[in-house]
Order: sequence, then structure tokens, then C-alpha cells
Amino acid sequence: MKSIRDYSFDTKCVHAGTKEDQYGSVVTPIYQVSTFKFKSAAHGARLFSGEEDGYIYTRMRNPTIEALEDSIAILEGGAKALACSSGMAASHTLIAALLNAGDHVICSESVYGPTFTLIQNVMSRFGIESTFVDTSDSDNVKNALKPNTKLVFVETPGNPTLVISDLQVIADISHNHGAKLAVDNTFMSPVLQNPFKFGTDYIVHSLTKFLNGHADVVGGVVVLKEQSEYEGFRKSLNQFGGVIDPFNSFLVHRGIKTLKLRMERHCQNAQKIAEYLEKHTEVEWVRYPGLPSHPQYELGKKQMYGPGGMISFELKKGLVAGKILMDNVQIWQLAVSLGGVESLIQHPASMTHATMGKDAREQANITDGLVRLSVGIEDAGELIQGLEEGLKKI
Ligand SMILES: *Cc1c(COP(=O)(O)O)cnc(C)c1O
Repeated sequence: MKSIRDYSFDTKCVHAGTKEDQYGSVVTPIYQVSTFKFKSAAHGARLFSGEEDGYIYTRMRNPTIEALEDSIAILEGGAKALACSSGMAASHTLIAALLNAGDHVICSESVYGPTFTLIQNVMSRFGIESTFVDTSDSDNVKNALKPNTKLVFVETPGNPTLVISDLQVIADISHNHGAKLAVDNTFMSPVLQNPFKFGTDYIVHSLTKFLNGHADVVGGVVVLKEQSEYEGFRKSLNQFGGVIDPFNSFLVHRGIKTLKLRMERHCQNAQKIAEYLEKHTEVEWVRYPGLPSHPQYELGKKQMYGPGGMISFELKKGLVAGKILMDNVQIWQLAVSLGGVESLIQHPASMTHATMGKDAREQANITDGLVRLSVGIEDAGELIQGLEEGLKKI
């Protein structure tokens, strides 16, 4: 029989992970339950010893959570996925499951703000060393390698500057050194970028963003390429405890059914908006992987199936003008987060990347005047009009 893994991406989005149940449910229902009863003392013992397959306790395993995990593992082409309570819980689970005190990690400097803080300020307390480099130049990764480098953590396109890193080259550099490569694929979703195809070992996503897509869930996931690592990761997640719950799993799994359609529209809308902004007299520069002016435009076309829904740009009159814009746009909502059907605008230096500190921001080219857009699936013309309402007030 044909496995769901043999079908097209569009079909996988709708069907992957859905479990057959005794009632013939068309979607996997919400098993809103913390614990599962055993048929007998012997049955309970067999489940705990792993002799028999079954559910024990939701922190360990739950059918609704498992349906979501299977769907994402299949969409990314990985062996297994572990759903977590947030994207940060996913990154923490990955790092804590993989690294020991004395190990070293190399991370992209243009990275989600709290990821920077987690590695730089929190994991360092547990003896894990780190170096942050501009991974869009692969030589920087090579030069940062140390004998104890165990993990390279890349976000591409990076947040919020949208620099693109070469996954194939960085995977080769990492593996030649005996290190593993992890990629934060949140900005792309499995629709627009498949890091496993380029030799990546682990993928993390914030499910909060494109995968759920509706700004009503916080969640995350770690995807493993190799089945052999699954038991160790599952035990770690069970011990750290940062699991997602059944209701949020259900919502994300529902969101994934329209993921391909949504990503197509995010890309179409963002392309039009990026082109509009690039021509605007108030705009100093626009960074969007779909514009030939993007410094890694060619690499993006090679490695990504589309440029995505995220745009960053700087106004000629800097942050003051940015504040006028953010306070006067229409339809666009002033909020952090991204990847939902609704369009959002925010200011990284005072919001998402504030905790990084000015020095690290400057190092990563996150200027004080940089404005970040998460382009939704509304009408593109109306989104442009909504921006124009703010830009004309400057
Ligand atoms: C939001 C985000 C995260 C963290 O996810 P949470 O669900 O907010 O914990 C990590 N990486 C990227 C690229 C993100 O956008």
C-alpha cells in the first residue's frame, strides 16, 4: 500500500498524521486527558517496559500530540518529531538533550532574540560555550570551530535581517568537524525550505508562527532526521517536561491543512509589498529574499522554494519615521510574532530584539530604524494602501 510519505506535499498537508480511531473520526480528535488506564497490572507493566505499545501519561505520549508530531515529521521528511510547549522549549530541548557542560555551539548572529539570550546568557550558566557569527559567510563558521564544537545552530533566513546562510556548505563544514547542524526553519515552514535535503541533522520550528498560522497558539517542535536518536530525545523531553498540550496540538494540526495555500499567498503578497516599498521615496532599503537586491538572492533561489512572508526595511528618516508609520498604518496591527493570516508590523530594536543589547544588535546589522513586517493573506492592494496611510504622515 502507498504510504502517506509517497504522496505530494499538498496531500500530505491535509492527511499526514491523522489517526484511525474506533469511531471513524475524519480528523484526530482532542484527547483532553492526562492519564490512560491499564487493562491490568501486567498490562501497565508491559507498557512501562516498552514490551507493548500504548499510552500511559500525556507528558510521555498522547494521541492528539502524536498526530501533530507525525504530520510535521512527514512534511519535513524527517524520521520523528517532538512537539513542545513553545518554539523556545523546542530550542531548549534540542540544546539540553544534545550538549554537555564543556561543549561549544556556533550560532547565527541574526537569530530570534530569545534564542540569542538562551544560548548566550542561560546555557552558559550550565557550562555551554557559544560563538555568534554571521553565518551568511560560511567561512565564519569554519573559523569559529573549536575542538569542543558539537553543534552549529543556523537560522535562515535570519531574524530580522533576513540574511540567508548556505545550508549545504555549513552542513559539510559541521560534519567534517564531527559537529551536528540544527536549523530554525520557522520563517520558511516545510513548504518553502527542506533543510534535511541539505544535510541538516535537526530542525526546530516555532509552531506559533506559520505552521499554526492563526495567532491563537504557542507551540514548538524539534524534528529529527534519524530514527536512532528518537528514544534519547523523547526521554529528555519527558524529563525537561516542556510538552505541548492536546488542545493546542489539535489547533496546529488543523492549521497545517491549509499551510501550503497560506504560504503561497504570503509569498505573493510579500513580493508585491516589497516591490512597492523598494520604490517608495521614504524608504532607504528593503530586505526581502524575493528582491534581486537581496545580497543572497541567488542562494535563496537555490535553497528555498519561495521568499516567504517576512520583510524588513529601513526608512530614510530612521526610527522617528518608523514610529509615525507604526502608529498610523491601517489594517496592519502593531504586534510582535509572525506567520499568521493577519499582517503585523513591529520594531525589533525596541521589541523582539531589545534583550540582545545594542552592541550585539549592531554587530548583527539590526539597526535602530529597522521595521519588520509579517505579511498576512489579506488583499495585497489593501495592505499597500494601509502602509501608504502611515508613510504619507512621515
Ligand atoms: C517565534 C520564534 C521562535 C520562538 O518561538 P516561541 O513559540 O515564541 O517560543 C524561535 N525562532 C523563530 C525564528 C521565531 O520566529
